[in-house]
Amino acid sequence: MTIKFENICKFYDGAAAITDLNLHIQQGELLVLLGPSGSGKSTVLKMVNRMTSHDAGQIFFNGREINSFNIQDLRRRMGYAMQSVGLFPHRTVAHNIATVPKLLGWDAQRVQARVNELLKLLAMDPEQYASRYPHQLSGGQQQRVGVARALAADPDVLLMDEPFGALDPVTRAALQLALKKIHRATGKTILFVTHDIDEALLLATRIVLLNHGRIAQVGTPLELLQRPANEFVVNFLGRTDLGLKQLSLRSITSHIKAIEGIEPSHTVAHTATLREAISQMATLHVSSLSVVDESGTVLGQVKATDLLEN
Ligand code: ADP
Ligand code: MG
Repeated sequence: MTIKFENICKFYDGAAAITDLNLHIQQGELLVLLGPSGSGKSTVLKMVNRMTSHDAGQIFFNGREINSFNIQDLRRRMGYAMQSVGLFPHRTVAHNIATVPKLLGWDAQRVQARVNELLKLLAMDPEQYASRYPHQLSGGQQQRVGVARALAADPDVLLMDEPFGALDPVTRAALQLALKKIHRATGKTILFVTHDIDEALLLATRIVLLNHGRIAQVGTPLELLQRPANEFVVNFLGRTDLGLKQLSLRSITSHIKAIEGIEPSHTVAHTATLREAISQMATLHVSSLSVVDESGTVLGQVKATDLLEN
């Protein structure tokens, strides 16, 4: 599964929403489209499944221009989940999740097995929840069902537009972890839109930071933090600093690992927070540090990649 944007432009009423976008998405990426409101994130997502058309350039899905697909076929290969879940209010949870499999003509037994499998994957007991209606669920549970529905027919790619935006922080964190697990377990390609740097740093294998419909920077979370490409990136990462604040609440202690190979030449105190350690790495342009105690004894090392995972 690959998605390739080549010189994509999109205009609304003559105003450019996306300008000359070039991007190649590989199988298995959890690619986060990040940027301020109005930067074009949703537009990029919607062009992939042709909810909106592109005005110039070409978008390739598995090497084939998306306009050459039958639109229903295209959409069924792409799960879509968004903030206002859009569950069918008069259908049960099971019925909601089964929407696409039924359209595809799966037999009843296979549909039921899939519904149960997905509910379990999203930590919802099928016996308790399968026959409920959306209004009998909490916001977080509705969102889980929305994700399950998007995954139901085992799509090649999952498109998610601020799916957790409306949730309280605790529920949101739980769903972020659930999504990470799903990504690890399935190896699915996921395009995830958010304006929340914290969420992007937590989830992304790669971030595309948009500004006024253009790419400001593409890179791993660490690359953006370590080597912001321009003032916009610096300001955006700095101002939306909730993520960094969270890092400052957590200690590096649980991330210390035995040193393999060469001992990192710079040190960090074992009492440091994740934020301090990562900040130090960014300043020094290194991706690992030796951890020392009060007496200067080396306890092990911390690696940036480990710190940026939970
Ligand atoms: P984001 O998701 O990053 O907030 P959008 O992709 O929704 O940004 O919007 C990008 C730009 O395109 C904005 O300036 C927005 O006002 C404009 N836009 C989006 N959808 C429409 C539409 N249907 N009609 C006119 N303008 C739109
Ligand atoms: Mg949007």
